[in-house]
This record gives sequence, C-alpha cells and structure tokens, in this order.
Amino acid sequence: MTALENIVNEIAAEMRLRTDRGEVASYIPELAGVHPSAFGLVVIDAEGKVAAAGDCDTPFSIQSISKIFTLTLALGKAGDRLWKRVGREPSGSAFNSIVQLEYERGVPRNPFINAGAIAVTDLILSGHQPREAIGEILRFVQFVADDSTIAIDEAVAASEQRTGFRNTALANYMKSFGVIDNPVHYTLGVYFHHCAIAMSCRQLAMAGRYLAHGGINPATGYSVIQAERARRINAVMLTCGHYDGSGEFAYRVGLPGKSGVGGGIYAVAPGKASIAVWSPGLDANGNSRLGRVALEILAKRTGWSIFGGDRPSA
Ligand code: GLU
Repeated sequence: MTALENIVNEIAAEMRLRTDRGEVASYIPELAGVHPSAFGLVVIDAEGKVAAAGDCDTPFSIQSISKIFTLTLALGKAGDRLWKRVGREPSGSAFNSIVQLEYERGVPRNPFINAGAIAVTDLILSGHQPREAIGEILRFVQFVADDSTIAIDEAVAASEQRTGFRNTALANYMKSFGVIDNPVHYTLGVYFHHCAIAMSCRQLAMAGRYLAHGGINPATGYSVIQAERARRINAVMLTCGHYDGSGEFAYRVGLPGKSGVGGGIYAVAPGKASIAVWSPGLDANGNSRLGRVALEILAKRTGWSIFGGDRPSA
C-alpha cells in the first residue's frame, strides 16, 4: 500500500466512527432520503495513481459542484466578458441569498452562489434549446471524467423544479435587471438538470484533473483549458467555493474547493492531486461537515495546503 493509500484509508476509517455528521439537505425533497452514514474519498495524484476508500463508487447528487464545470464552459464561450454578468468576490451570505442582489443591481457576487450560477447557465443556454445546453454540459463532464456512463438523476431535477421557489425568485429578480437573457423557466430547467448530475467520488476526482494540472488532462496530455484559466477558476473556488464558509475552509484545509448540498466536495491540490470527498450531512452553511474534516486531515498529513506549514506525516 502506498503512503497516500494509507492516509486515505485511515481517514475513511476515522470518519466511519464519527457521529457528528450534520444534517442531510431536505429542502430538495429527493435528497432528504440519502443515508447520512455514507462516506467516500478519492485522491488521484499527478502520476494518475488512485487512492480510494469508503463509498467511493456510489453516485451522489453533485449539486453545486457542477458549477465548476459550467464556469469552465461559460469562460470558454464568453471569455472575460463573463465577468460583466457576474462578479468574483466572496459573498459573505447564504448560497441562496436574495438581499445582496438588490444592492448590486441584479449582478451576482460570484459564479458559485445560486444567483451567479444561474447567470452562468443562462450564458451557456443562449443560442440553444434547453435540451441542447443540458446535453452540452453533461457531455463536457463525461469528457473530462473520461466516463460516458455519468448521467443526470431526473428524479432529483424534477424534485428541485417542483420546489425551487427561491431560485425562481433569484432568476426573476435578475431578469428584471436584464442579467438573464433567456426565458427564466428555460434557464432554471438547465440549472436544475446540471445540479442533478450524479457522480461518484472516483468520477468527480477524474473529472477535475484538468484543474489540478494547469488545464491539462494529465492522462492524455490534452489541454482542456488554458493554464491561466485553470488558475483563476481555482482562485474563485478558494475564495467563494464554500459560500459563507469559504474563509473557514481556507483556514482549516487550505485548498481550492467547491461544495454541493448533496454532501460532496471537490478539491484541488495544485500540481499534486485531484480530490473528491462525500459525506451527505451538512453544516449550517450548507457544506459537507465530515467532508471538510476529512480534507483538513488529508491536507495536514500530506502537507498539501497551498499556504504551507505542514510536513507530510507518512
Ligand atoms: N441545486 C441547489 C440549489 O440551487 C444547489 C445548491 C448547492 O449545492 O449548494 O439550491
């Protein structure tokens, strides 16, 4: 067993014993039934070696982690024009907050809060039918993960469509400022579907490799995006990837990361590893509670925090 496999196995064993798991998201009814004791962790290093433990092959709803992939696609389409529609500053508010939008005249703070991600989705949708845009996003995720079996959980998408009153309010509000170009229900349909993509930790860690390696898929040498763009997406993940818990995540883990209310977190150790963790219970900010704890231990034991400080312990 490699040192990294050892660390990953020990973390998974430790997380199994913990009882402080937080609460599974229930505002999307279809997510409420997920068992809180699930835990998966996958780390893929720069040589492509995979260290995996726990429920690492169980698909879960990636929810807001999908916003990394939509941001990548939208930047590819619009380039820096994207930043006219959406900012890149931490929000300091809840993921679905509406107050900030009023102060900032419908321009969302960053592409990872719900309003920002809806604006990004709207940009991808322009010039297409919703079905085509959903297909484009899904195919991109399958491509970067090198896995054509990745699919959308239609029951989750329908569940959110039925109950997504807040997101509908956010989208309508932005529409009133001209930030949304397409019919609101089209944009939201695409948004709910990409949030409902189901992936395992292994598939997610595979999919994000281009962010860990300067825009390049290290397995094929194929350039997915420019290095500068990968660096910037990582910067936005670090500052905004955990909503109002982003400061705490940087403080404790020290890696760019993006959470989703399905309990997943995708994280990057730049130049070193692509990491996915899943534990469905959430903290008060809507981020995976044990997912964060597991990444904190991983960063400490590997010495991977981008802020330095820890010596590898294995
Ligand atoms: N689809 C979820 C929503 O819009 C995403 C939130 C999240 O994962 O943080 O509420």
